[in-house]
Amino acid sequence: MKVHVSIHDVSPAYEVEVFHLLDLCHARGIKPALLVVPNFHERAPLPDAPAFVDAVRLLSLDHELFLHGYYHRSTAQEGVRAIIDQRIVSAGEAEFSNLTIGECAKLVGDGERMLRELDLRIDGFVPPAWTMPQGLLEVLAARGYAYTEDHLTVRRPKTGETWPSLVVNFASRSRTRAITTTLFSRLSMLLSLDVRTRVALHPTDLRVPFLHDEIARLLDWAAAQEVSTASRLVD
Ligand SMILES: [Zn+2]
Repeated sequence: MKVHVSIHDVSPAYEVEVFHLLDLCHARGIKPALLVVPNFHERAPLPDAPAFVDAVRLLSLDHELFLHGYYHRSTAQEGVRAIIDQRIVSAGEAEFSNLTIGECAKLVGDGERMLRELDLRIDGFVPPAWTMPQGLLEVLAARGYAYTEDHLTVRRPKTGETWPSLVVNFASRSRTRAITTTLFSRLSMLLSLDVRTRVALHPTDLRVPFLHDEIARLLDWAAAQEVSTASRLVD
């Protein structure tokens, strides 16, 4: 079974946690994709952290780099849909969920420009909280992206191809959801379904003590599968 491992929210805001997660992956021979946020919550712009950027650039020699939103925080506050998406589903992290196509395109373009100026390659785009409004997919297709994903699928935007895919992650922002997602993670390992599976690690997972063992267990399991790059996941 093909398994893809990634570290989300790669930002100077989580420098210690990102390198801790990298160590856990590397100890098992896994080179995870890095989901880079240009300016996390408007308080961690990449250009202000040159040593961190240098480290990410060095890692990009043998790790995939994905653009992962711009601020990683919703700026839309209006309407019932916005309240459901932000407060209930994603705790305010679904940056793209209530934006127009034009607003999505601007943020994607701004993120690309910042990463390009920092000499960071972009291998794909993953929207924060995997929230993919229809217009965003069109934006990615028009910009020639070869890879994106949401909760249930992995996609090649420039050709429109889509494959079902399971994502295993820990919802560490809430203790209840951390427990239910841990159970889901164990179930996924137990069943080892023959589908493209994504293991997504978040820096905040490390703040929940019981998740440390779960992450180790999940990575041990992943290392025993066929660890794949995202580009081979959509091959
Ligand atoms: Zn994220």
